[in-house]
Amino acid sequence: MSLSSKDRSSPNRSSKARAAGLAHLHDKGLKRGDAIPLPLTMASIFHSPGDSTGFHQYGRFSNPTWTAVEDMLGHLEDAPCVGFPSGMAAISAVLFGLVKAGDRILLSSDGYPTTRLVAERLRTFGVDFDVRPTASFLDGGFDGYRLVYAETPANPGLDICDIAAVAKAVHVAGGLFVVDNTTMTPFGQRPLDLGADIVLAADTKAPNGHSDVLFGHVASRDPEIVTAIQDWRKTTGSIPSPFDAWLLHRGLETLELRFERMCDNAELIAPRLKAHPAVRSIRFPGLPDDPSHNLARVQMERFGFLISFVLDSEEKAEDFIQGCALIHSATSFGGVHTCAERRTKRGDAVPPGFVRLAVGCEPGEELWQAIEAALDDLGG
Ligand SMILES: *Cc1c(COP(=O)(O)O)cnc(C)c1O
Repeated sequence: MSLSSKDRSSPNRSSKARAAGLAHLHDKGLKRGDAIPLPLTMASIFHSPGDSTGFHQYGRFSNPTWTAVEDMLGHLEDAPCVGFPSGMAAISAVLFGLVKAGDRILLSSDGYPTTRLVAERLRTFGVDFDVRPTASFLDGGFDGYRLVYAETPANPGLDICDIAAVAKAVHVAGGLFVVDNTTMTPFGQRPLDLGADIVLAADTKAPNGHSDVLFGHVASRDPEIVTAIQDWRKTTGSIPSPFDAWLLHRGLETLELRFERMCDNAELIAPRLKAHPAVRSIRFPGLPDDPSHNLARVQMERFGFLISFVLDSEEKAEDFIQGCALIHSATSFGGVHTCAERRTKRGDAVPPGFVRLAVGCEPGEELWQAIEAALDDLGG
């Protein structure tokens, strides 16, 4: 079986232009003798005589290494960006920084457990919430919600919602629309271009890509939102470490290359997994008969690198993951190494044999051979 959507196998030119520009973003500011790679500035204080505006003064307010990374992320999002020490810190900044007592918010029910943050923390400050499945996110409308928060594709089930249609409906109802774009990165999907007010992501995943840093960012084209988020960071002290920012900078330099490889690998592997007798069901937006496929073709630049599938039992899922020579048994995704996780381990509402495969950057045919061998080993 082949994928029907060759158009999604080659991202549009603006993504390529963005990637090319990223590699030379800091060229303009260089003086003779400057290091071309980004210097790491570890500093809590800066030389600050006279008036205290227009330069770095204190490490909780700003840092040149953060600024460089935010410039890169801003280039990719085509919007000002604010960096945070983790994806959850970025999510917290949006939820706690923009919502107040008496507001009501709506979340996807099948995404990352942001609902825990809302139910256990935000709710104690008088903010109530509802949840809704991503696949039917438009149903019921958005009246009465100050903020609507979606993750698409929602991980690990990989249902998607129509970002442009939701943005339009949320705006008619007077709310803000936030998209968690972690699973796709700015090279795979562009929620702000589709009308979302805010995009956020865990750069812990593909943007850093080497599984050694946690980081998050919030981006918006609304200056008031950006100011509120910057102010939240400064006053709460939810700041990233300059060293982590420096590592993320290094990761971002190869994001486009890695993302393309991971998406290519996923497109190679998904149809073969689907055809394998050990696989009971599979979700990947790139498969022509996947419920997410038609909408994915419209709003996503690639189909991503996450594949979910179901084996016969919890034991088979565990045996497959542990038995595959090119899969790490680990949570998280977006790193160079292929990882997989049996998601009942994390309490997801999925069948016992449900596996989330986070395809990495290994050569595709070799990766498939290792996956096929581990599936064959499971027996009948
Ligand atoms: C990992 C992840 C987060 C949280 O990121 P951390 O860096 O672990 O805090 C948020 N949303 C999604 C979709 C994620 O996958």
